[in-house]
Amino acid sequence: MNTQEYLDLENEYGAHNYKPLDVVLTKGEGVWVWDVDGKRYLDCLAAYSAVNQGHCHPAIMKTMMAQAQKLTLTSRAFRNDQLGHFYKEICELTRSHKVLPMNSGAEAVETVIKAVRKWSYQIKGIPEDKAEIIVCANNFHGRTITIVGFSTDPTARSGFGPFTPGFKIIPFGDADALEAAITPNTAGFLVEPIQGEAGVIIPKAGYLKAAREICDRHNVVLILDEIQTGLGRTGRLLAEEHEGIEADLTLVGKALSGGFYPISAVLSNKEVMDVLQPGEHGSTFGGNPLACAIARTAIRVLKEEKMIENASEMGDYFLAGLKNIQSPHIKEVRGRGLMIAMELFPEAGGARPFCYKLAEKGMLCKETHVDTIRFAPPLVIKKDEVDWALEQIAAVMTA
Ligand SMILES: *Cc1c(COP(=O)(O)O)cnc(C)c1O
Repeated sequence: MNTQEYLDLENEYGAHNYKPLDVVLTKGEGVWVWDVDGKRYLDCLAAYSAVNQGHCHPAIMKTMMAQAQKLTLTSRAFRNDQLGHFYKEICELTRSHKVLPMNSGAEAVETVIKAVRKWSYQIKGIPEDKAEIIVCANNFHGRTITIVGFSTDPTARSGFGPFTPGFKIIPFGDADALEAAITPNTAGFLVEPIQGEAGVIIPKAGYLKAAREICDRHNVVLILDEIQTGLGRTGRLLAEEHEGIEADLTLVGKALSGGFYPISAVLSNKEVMDVLQPGEHGSTFGGNPLACAIARTAIRVLKEEKMIENASEMGDYFLAGLKNIQSPHIKEVRGRGLMIAMELFPEAGGARPFCYKLAEKGMLCKETHVDTIRFAPPLVIKKDEVDWALEQIAAVMTA
């Protein structure tokens, strides 16, 4: 089948809730992917940072195949021999006390909202059903009804109400706005350390530190959504480390499996997680032995193969290279580690045509919103590959 036949098939039978680039991929290895016509591309999206370890990482694949031949799913009605190991290893890695495993990122967000609400009634003493959670404008936390209900993106929320109450929206990056929004009924503050889907928006230095201090002062739990920023993407294991703070609750997903399997987790201090009692929350697939085995190897290779250090070094190098490109289209380049964005002037005519031109040259990138191109390759990218990418980008931006 050729590319057009695959597109026709998808268009005829599939829901049209995505607008992908018309490239049909069939194979991946490290930072490279191949389409059905045999053309090779450098993957600069890495499945929205789920493939930090590189496509089809051999050690993760080996674990997946071995575990799949042994035991895949028990449900949580019974125990399995992978779960406890996964708990201990992820807690030690992230200096957390407790973990609750789910599948998708959105499920981790839903889980943390439940846990924090319960904590606020049982421990903080907020009157039942009055808990408020503060979130930020231009957030992206997933696609469920509750989550899109506190989105400020009209495309994400219009037509899907009525929504879950109990959320308050403040500007991102504004610590004074956080302090002003807190009431005696505030249970938590949910925020992305860097807003990914909004276009890699990096708050000014000191913001998270100030948020930590304000949350402490008001007995509000700080919840960091590190589903995209976490697990090495920004050049640190967790983005919170850039400001030397620790969240009360941290959400991870995406790269937790290196792209092999949906697995997410809520990492927590003891006090919040301990409010959940048997029967109050769960998931048939959450914490299954296949997922746990895969995640154990996915976090091990991240460390052992020095991917986090590489993200830091290659990120600095990539960003510096992008800043050197002289183009009338480029408004700003910004990034941390290998989470990088290039924002174009509106006059450039939108980022998408540039993404198609990059694809012709063998680089896969995706626009975020209209005018921004994101560069977020797998963390295993090498210097000569960054050099090659910079050449292609320079050629397209200066053509
Ligand atoms: C991708 C993402 C989510 C949602 O994860 P899914 O697995 O798609 O449900 C939540 N928060 C952030 C910051 C994300 O990037």
